[in-house]
Order: sequence, then structure tokens, then C-alpha cells
Amino acid sequence: MAIVKDPVCGMEIESETAAGSSEYQGVTYYFCAEGCKHDFDTSPWKYVGSGAGLKEAMSEPSGQMAPKPASAKKWWEFWK
Ligand SMILES: [Zn+2]
Repeated sequence: MAIVKDPVCGMEIESETAAGSSEYQGVTYYFCAEGCKHDFDTSPWKYVGSGAGLKEAMSEPSGQMAPKPASAKKWWEFWK
């Protein structure tokens, strides 16, 4: 039994009681609900790697990342 983080909604859950799991790039991810698993399966790159890093950076009101609307638009477009 282990506490894992649902990469879609950020909720901490127990892997044993997770509603679902998916493997992506050799890593197994666990989800609190079917909906989260579905979202992850649809576009896993949004929730791992640079996508997760960006999400973390955005949730922190840090002065390190100056607002750059131009580059922000770029990565949104990249995801489409
Ligand atoms: Zn979730």
C-alpha cells in the first residue's frame, strides 16, 4: 500500500483503493476516479513531464516566473 498522487487532479490517494491506473512511459499512475483516468489516457503528456512542471509553477505565486503571455500561448497551442 502506498500513497500516490493522482496526476490529473492532484489528489493524494492510496494505490490500493485507486479507481484506476494507467502506465505511461514505464511509470504507473493511479487515479481517484474513472474520469481522471480517462483524461489521462486521452492526453497523458499534459499531466507528466513538462506539463506537470508548468502546472506546478502556475499554482505558485512566484516572482521567479515573470508573466509572459506570448510564451504561454505557445505551449497552449503546442498541446492542441
Ligand atoms: Zn482525480
